[in-house]
Amino acid sequence: MNIQHNISLKPFNTFGIDVLAKSMASFSSADELMILLDAISEDVMILGGGSNVLFTKNVDAFVLKNEIAGMEVVKEDALHVYVRVGASVNWHAFVQHCIVQNWSGVENLSLIPGNVGASPMQNIGAYGVELKDVFFTLDAYDMQERKIRTFTLNDCAFGYRDSIFKKELKNQVVILDVTFRLNKVPSFNTSYGAIEEELAKMDVKELNIAAISQAVINIRSSKLPDPKVIGNAGSFFKNPTVNMIKYFHLKSQFENIVGYKQPKGEMKLAAGWLVEQCGLKGHRNGDAGVHDKQALVLVNHGHATGSDIFELSEKVIDAVKKKFNITLEREVNIY
Ligand code: FAD
Ligand code: NAP
Repeated sequence: MNIQHNISLKPFNTFGIDVLAKSMASFSSADELMILLDAISEDVMILGGGSNVLFTKNVDAFVLKNEIAGMEVVKEDALHVYVRVGASVNWHAFVQHCIVQNWSGVENLSLIPGNVGASPMQNIGAYGVELKDVFFTLDAYDMQERKIRTFTLNDCAFGYRDSIFKKELKNQVVILDVTFRLNKVPSFNTSYGAIEEELAKMDVKELNIAAISQAVINIRSSKLPDPKVIGNAGSFFKNPTVNMIKYFHLKSQFENIVGYKQPKGEMKLAAGWLVEQCGLKGHRNGDAGVHDKQALVLVNHGHATGSDIFELSEKVIDAVKKKFNITLEREVNIY
């Protein structure tokens, strides 16, 4: 619970932005968290792996690092296993554990940075699978009601890169652990993106979750910047959805526009494609840049400040608005 003051957050965010936290402490149980909260009068900011945040200034709030560990099977039936995982467990380590145990459901979510505790925040998703598909419940400490609450699937209002924790309950709850419902009998999902192509390249004879995980790892490693090498927080913007009228209007102007039909009859557009069409792929403003392999990702080439990255994001939003009359929404949490 060691409280530190004027700490650089550079090692604690994958953009590598050098700002100071006025105060910072960690907690490794709900009891420790409650003791800390009793002792603090400032606002608090909960930090996981720092892979979905952009710090644009020094942080006045008291930064609390969640270090609740542990992984345990809490229930099992013929088809499913229910696993409770502490918030500080690294997401990919959890995925790897599932693969070793032959529990399916999270293999498509391989190699997503960050911690399990943050995974419900934006209902993490990749390659056609979202956290909500394997979510069972979570326990969170409600800082206003001052009690631990259990949230079921319906309580979380999961949406596309969204949840109640990013909206109504923003900064109000601290997620302590998440319980997942994983499948003992796998149902494979390989239709998305380049997975099948990669599996063919890998010469996989009999499909299995370890192979799917490896295929996803291979694809991600080939096109996404590794935050250890170049600072970034993954996709900076969400993919926008438009109604069919707007989509066909755009299609008449931009023949190659990339769109995917959504269940409610809308079209999801690939934001990376929109940014690329504005001529911004690989663009640089000093050390703030648009990644040259995936235009949805903004990067820190070295010494960019959070404001530099934020200004670049404004430039991208303006350019897309001007060319397509679409307003991109940021996915990354701005502080
Ligand atoms: P942080 O960045 O530490 O926090 C994110 C937000 O959640 C903050 O607002 C923080 O206050 C809050 N928070 C964190 N922990 C808690 C808690 N225990 N209780 C309450 N609030 C909390 N995301 C995807 O969805 N799909 C992807 O495929 C994907 N790929 C990525 C690839 C790269 C290279 C990178 C850098 C990022 C990627 N991301 C992706 C984004 C990011 O990894 C995820 O959003 C991840 O879940 C963030 O976890 P974190 O622990 O780093 O959260
Ligand atoms: P990609 O495969 O090049 O595809 C580009 C976009 O098209 C993606 O954003 C994806 O939307 C969409 N798409 C592709 N195939 C689709 C299908 N069959 N049905 C519906 N939509 C489809 O994307 P990528 O950049 O390499 O990323 C691959 C996956 O990893 C995507 O799911 C992406 O969301 C995820 N990812 C997320 C982050 C992040 O930080 N959030 C970072 C890197 C990768 P969706 O994004 O809606 O899936």
